[in-house]
Amino acid sequence: MIFWGWMLTDIIACDVLIVGGGPAGLSVASHLGDDVHSIVVHQDAEIGLPVRTSGGTWQRDMQALGIPPEMYRVIDQLDFFSDNAEARFAVKDDKMAVMDVTAVYRHLASLSDGKRSELMTGAKFLSCIEQEDGQFLSQIRSRDRGNFNILSRMVIDASGWQCAVLESLGLGQKPQRTGVGIEYEFLRGDFEPNRAVLFVGSSALTGYGWIFPTPDNRLRLGIGVINPDTDLTPRQVMDAFEASGQAARYGIEIPEDYETNAGIIPSEPYDPELVFGNVVRTGDAANFATPTVGEGIRIAVEYGRLLGTEVTAHLGGDDKALGRYEAAARREFQRDYKFGFMVNKRIAGYSPERWDKSVARLGRLSEQEMTALVRSRFNLRTMARTIWLNFKAKVSG
Ligand SMILES: Cc1cc2nc3c(=O)[nH]c(=O)nc-3n(C[C@H](O)[C@H](O)[C@H](O)COP(=O)(O)OP(=O)(O)OC[C@H]3O[C@@H](n4cnc5c(N)ncnc54)[C@H](O)[C@@H]3O)c2cc1C
Repeated sequence: MIFWGWMLTDIIACDVLIVGGGPAGLSVASHLGDDVHSIVVHQDAEIGLPVRTSGGTWQRDMQALGIPPEMYRVIDQLDFFSDNAEARFAVKDDKMAVMDVTAVYRHLASLSDGKRSELMTGAKFLSCIEQEDGQFLSQIRSRDRGNFNILSRMVIDASGWQCAVLESLGLGQKPQRTGVGIEYEFLRGDFEPNRAVLFVGSSALTGYGWIFPTPDNRLRLGIGVINPDTDLTPRQVMDAFEASGQAARYGIEIPEDYETNAGIIPSEPYDPELVFGNVVRTGDAANFATPTVGEGIRIAVEYGRLLGTEVTAHLGGDDKALGRYEAAARREFQRDYKFGFMVNKRIAGYSPERWDKSVARLGRLSEQEMTALVRSRFNLRTMARTIWLNFKAKVSG
């Protein structure tokens, strides 16, 4: 529908409109060529706030992406718990890390300094139409400027689970199955500074919980559940977790005062179609996060940067550029995520007793095999060994 009142408002023209100033959108902007004029519209008032994610990642990826080391804490002890089993890993090779999410996102935004990229915070993309000349006219509502339009040659959907651009243009829809998470953030206290905990079972039904120490000496205690696999909200599951007394088993005490973070992530099968003419999706809007644990920040940055480079080539006349981006993502994710999503669906239905068996089995994996599972990397060796351990467990009852 065209709101004719909008047509009378200001029109700002640019080459590329990027919807969403999360890690994906900011990374597209930072890797556009110097002559490309882009506008990032971001509905939140600030970059990186409120925090909607827990920032778990890997040291080697942070190094490869050039994230300053003071913005993440390296983890060398990773402990898994179910109700009656545990698997503890002293990680030597591929160390996890926990980001200061706000600092990292602001750093990603700073990488566009000096470019022809405008960042509009407090500006919500409302809808979009494709004009006869192939350009896109988008309606924006901003706290500072009121209502206005942006005319662009391309639109990038980096709006996360909301898939705002795809929905508006009828090219896709919001995910029907989502991971919904809540986090309490408080001072770390005596919890070991380089240890992280993942827990499953009766205190985190259909999902999992985590305890992550941040670089600024805080702890993030989070629980995520999958909707509609459960009717429970993460808040209800968190309340039950508090009442269960499990926190002490994992080495934490929940104080009376804490900050609360919350977020949503798609939990649907990977769809390789990313390019719709001059509309392209990336990050969570393209369902790039890993299906096993929903880790998506490093991937949003890596593929956002690739998309920025390919969009520049596309605008310069290279008609294969966007296809290269789509093909690179397909090569990277399609097989692993297909298998990972099967695992996701299966484990979402596990009973606490089934989780006990799985965590006990996890404890028999090598550090490298455990890491591959968490990263949703299902090479033949990991799959063969997982099948073998399953078979052995069945045979031995
Ligand atoms: C509870 C939880 C815990 C997580 N834990 C981890 C973790 O430990 N490690 C990890 O790597 N990943 C984690 N993830 C996943 C990770 O947060 C995402 O994969 C990542 O943020 C994707 O980045 P993105 O830029 O695509 O989307 P987002 O980070 O969602 O950014 C999109 C932005 O677009 C804005 N936006 C949406 N609609 C509009 C609109 N209409 N107009 C303007 N702006 C709009 C939103 O406000 C949002 O800030 C977690 C997710 C959740 C929900």
